Amino acid sequence: MKDIPLKCLFVSSEVAPYAKTGGLADVVGALPKKLKEQGIDARIVMPYYSSIEGKFFEHDEHFLTSYDVHLGWRIQGIGVYFDEQIVPTYFLKSDTYFSRPEFYGYEDDYERFAFFCKGVLELIKHIDFVPDVIHCNDWQTGPLCLLLKDQYSYDPLYADIKTVYTIHNMKYQGIFGKEALDVLELSSDYMSPDKIEYHGAVSYMKAGLIYSDKITTVSPTYAEEIKTFEYGCGLDRLLSEKLEYKIEGILNGIDYDIYNPKTDPNLYVNYTYRSLHKKKQNKALFQKEHGLLEKDCMVIGIVSRITDQKGFDLMKETIEHVWVMDKIMQMDVQLVVLGTGEKEYEDMFRHLAYKYRERTGVFLTFNESLAQKIYAVSDVFLMPSLFEPCGLGQLIAMRYGSVPIVRKTGGLKDTVIHYNMQTKTGTGFEFEECSGYWMYRKIEEAYWYYNERPEHFKQIQLNGMKKGFSWNDAAKVYINLYQGIVE
Ligand code: ADP
Repeated sequence: MKDIPLKCLFVSSEVAPYAKTGGLADVVGALPKKLKEQGIDARIVMPYYSSIEGKFFEHDEHFLTSYDVHLGWRIQGIGVYFDEQIVPTYFLKSDTYFSRPEFYGYEDDYERFAFFCKGVLELIKHIDFVPDVIHCNDWQTGPLCLLLKDQYSYDPLYADIKTVYTIHNMKYQGIFGKEALDVLELSSDYMSPDKIEYHGAVSYMKAGLIYSDKITTVSPTYAEEIKTFEYGCGLDRLLSEKLEYKIEGILNGIDYDIYNPKTDPNLYVNYTYRSLHKKKQNKALFQKEHGLLEKDCMVIGIVSRITDQKGFDLMKETIEHVWVMDKIMQMDVQLVVLGTGEKEYEDMFRHLAYKYRERTGVFLTFNESLAQKIYAVSDVFLMPSLFEPCGLGQLIAMRYGSVPIVRKTGGLKDTVIHYNMQTKTGTGFEFEECSGYWMYRKIEEAYWYYNERPEHFKQIQLNGMKKGFSWNDAAKVYINLYQGIVE
């Protein structure tokens, strides 16, 4: 390592605990913390959403500086707030762009995140921190890699800065109209297929992929999958033919300080692998609180964004003319679902909750405390994703002794090992084919172990709980990667 600690600035639209809709927030909330422990001067910059204000620190006391950001003919003011309780974090404030109920989904998202990317680059002029590496995450931060090269690298302050661009999900690419070029102040030369043009539109994801010094994605298997037609979301040829040399898959971890059944304040009763019987107390208390049948039967948990990516279409299939969910509910099981998303799947769960009132708990909301309870309460955790860049749900589930049932794809393939009764190894159940039938068969298999071979079921739980998915190893790999590009 260098004598002076390597300086790394993480740029992300979501960071736990401040703002979270999914795994991206968990990753940027945890990885910089681990890097810091390992000697890196890691800092974070994120938008100052109105939902953050007043919740984590005293707003007025944390004001740092302010400046203007140019977006074509527009000039927008930015206020910078700074908090260093966990990792030094800069919050970029603009009422115009970030005082809204949601983080994304607005017509001017192209302008909001162009503002964010420019705001981050301008920030470097106003603080005493010039990073060696800027670590960008997902489409919201893609343009930063391009802007650095196009508009800032002539300035000695920026000349040595390298960029890493991490793909957390290929599906969301930030595709916008040509007006994005204006706010980014880029010439129309960039509208070509070898630059940021994508079927006549502007791709923020391509800006990150092409102009970064290194691309990472969040599991080794997904790093391979995205180079294929099936998983590449239209960018497979670019990735496999032009950018392969700079892509690396590094498996995510989870924050062991937060996801720990021994200390998690959200649980009814804390436990470890030595006191696994206490997991049942969580189940009983949850059933009581939510009006479910008070019975020690197998509880199937789902905590997820409710989108097609997560495999919910498999739950709409039939097996021999019987709806697969009816077949599952014919077993002596309970189902607990937490998530928000697409209406057609939410309606399916509403219907299930109505049909199996005493055995189904459906919570169509985002609630982190409830999520933790469900990991602790459930015996198996269902994640039949069509594709999964890494997936944190199955990692958290394993840590809480909930046995994952997953489709063998991406990070799920890299982290869940099918149980082998002979060798007593393995941490869950996997199926490969994208079908409701195979999902059902694996739930049936888990059900058999749960009821007929409880000692084996416990073995699977223990195997998962003891498996190490902390960030320690991944942080070391990232440090090597940073050193490789700065030296
Ligand atoms: P993705 O990033 O694709 O949404 P991951 O499995 O990588 O999926 O990460 C999901 C994270 O978001 C996990 O920490 C999970 O517990 C959390 N999560 C998902 N849905 C909800 C919800 N409705 N309420 C609370 N937490 C949720």
